[in-house]
Amino acid sequence: MVNNTNNNANSEEIKREKAYRLDCRYMQMAQIWAENSYCVRRKVGALLVKNKMIISDGFNGTPSGFPNVCEDENNHTFPYVLHAEANAITKVARSNNSSEGATLYVTASPCIECAKLIIQAGITRVVFSEYYRDTEGLELLQKAGIITDYLGQEKQD
Ligand SMILES: [Zn+2]
Repeated sequence: MVNNTNNNANSEEIKREKAYRLDCRYMQMAQIWAENSYCVRRKVGALLVKNKMIISDGFNGTPSGFPNVCEDENNHTFPYVLHAEANAITKVARSNNSSEGATLYVTASPCIECAKLIIQAGITRVVFSEYYRDTEGLELLQKAGIITDYLGQEKQD
């Protein structure tokens, strides 16, 4: 005989497992999306998901109308290159959707500039699969009460 307490515990577990699998799926999609980037040094992909719907996407690259080249001859990234998160957030701004309460899936943890945009866009959760070289952005997100979830291999130094 299974009592109610056990049943509830099991359904909670199933729910968590389902949510985790969904997170992994969206992250895989963000990783595939990153391949669209013309940047050579680093390709980053982002997805904005709200109510189980993808409402926006982005990858790092130059603004509309600029050549699809991200680095100069010395392999330095041009200052006008937009990060994947910034592209996803500005894309949703031009749509009829709202990023309020959305989850951002991004293949690298956000930098401080993108963290500011994420906070102002009303995004409530950020899932990332790789640590960016500095974690200032993550710390800012956490300070703003945004849930940050790491999904990927252990941090490599
Ligand atoms: Zn950034």
